[in-house]
Amino acid sequence: MKRFEYIRALEPQQAVMFATPKEASFIAGGTNLLDLMKLEIETPTKLVDVTRLELQQIETTNDGGLRIGTLVSNSDLAAHPDVIANYPVLSRAILAGATGQLRNKASTGGNFLQRTRCYYFYQTDSACNKRNPGSGCPAIGGENRTLAILGTSDACIAQHPSDMAVAMRLLDATIETVKADGSTRKIEVKDFYCLPKDTPHIENVLESGELITHVILPAPIKGMHTYDKVRDRASYAFALVSCAAVIDVDDSGNLDTVRLAFGGIGTQPWRNEAVEALLTDTDGNDDVITQAADLLLKDAKGSGQNDFKIPLTRRLLKQVIQRALAGKGA
Ligand SMILES: Cc1cc2nc3c(=O)[nH]c(=O)nc-3n(C[C@H](O)[C@H](O)[C@H](O)COP(=O)(O)OP(=O)(O)OC[C@H]3O[C@@H](n4cnc5c(N)ncnc54)[C@H](O)[C@@H]3O)c2cc1C
Ligand code: SF4
Repeated sequence: MKRFEYIRALEPQQAVMFATPKEASFIAGGTNLLDLMKLEIETPTKLVDVTRLELQQIETTNDGGLRIGTLVSNSDLAAHPDVIANYPVLSRAILAGATGQLRNKASTGGNFLQRTRCYYFYQTDSACNKRNPGSGCPAIGGENRTLAILGTSDACIAQHPSDMAVAMRLLDATIETVKADGSTRKIEVKDFYCLPKDTPHIENVLESGELITHVILPAPIKGMHTYDKVRDRASYAFALVSCAAVIDVDDSGNLDTVRLAFGGIGTQPWRNEAVEALLTDTDGNDDVITQAADLLLKDAKGSGQNDFKIPLTRRLLKQVIQRALAGKGA
């Protein structure tokens, strides 16, 4: 590990002031950053410890939503009574990730910013456009079983790894930040992540030294909340394909509300509102589900080993819709 300066911030404004120069990083739970530093994939010259900031609370907002401090641990967020009662899809998505020990350490903000699990990204003696821009992408045509099929580019096909972020995308969450100049802003999760295009090392719209302070959830959505995660092991494994869903069925058996977001298949948490619109106000018959899957996967591109994700996503979509129509939870 390279040498670095360590400093602890007590206020958000102090944290962003400390987070200069450009090579500084915030550290929260450290469950991703420290691994990356040990491998010298990330080499900050300064670590700004944000764990003492007063950003550990979950408050109710005036419009019936929740405002979550960035330092709320994944465990505490998943176990919060309001989250369990009103946003169970979020609780389920978080609990589907990592392990109890990791979730106790991992923070809400850090979870959004965890980096891909592409094998070559961690293999520092190999090329990788994300780690070393312009060096190439050996995953295309190489080991890509776990990688993305949607939102990819010729430069990078790395999958977005977070389960929590998939549920946050589904719930139309908004991220609040404070920037290096002390100003604040709000960024909807749908606008937060960047597609890899030809700059896969740029993963989100945060500016240098910008700190996530809160995440806001709008008022809850009525319907059955489910999170399905297909993976290689029952725990301690990232999604091959996952689906966060909120689905409401009306008295006549039609799909009244349909929200779907997918993990494991996209270079960012993947949601396609046109697919939801196609399914809404239908009886969810096989033809409609087929059309929805066709639309969802219209631009999907397998890279060999991960081709199986295309039929697997189709099957998962069908299972989620049919189960909701049958009135059964996950
Ligand atoms: C073995 C293992 C298995 C895992 N399995 C899963 C899984 O199945 N599903 C899943 O979703 N995740 C999984 N994870 C990832 C885990 O969820 C993340 O490591 C964790 O959420 C990161 O949070 P953290 O607080 O530890 O972040 P840190 O490691 O502290 O930071 C991560 C990044 O976020 C930045 N950062 C942190 N806080 C802020 C802030 N407030 N503002 C701006 N930048 C900030 C840091 O600078 C760093 O770049 C796994 C991790 C491990 C090690
Ligand atoms: S897919 Fe992305 S992260 Fe993986 S080797 Fe290619 S450029 Fe690197």
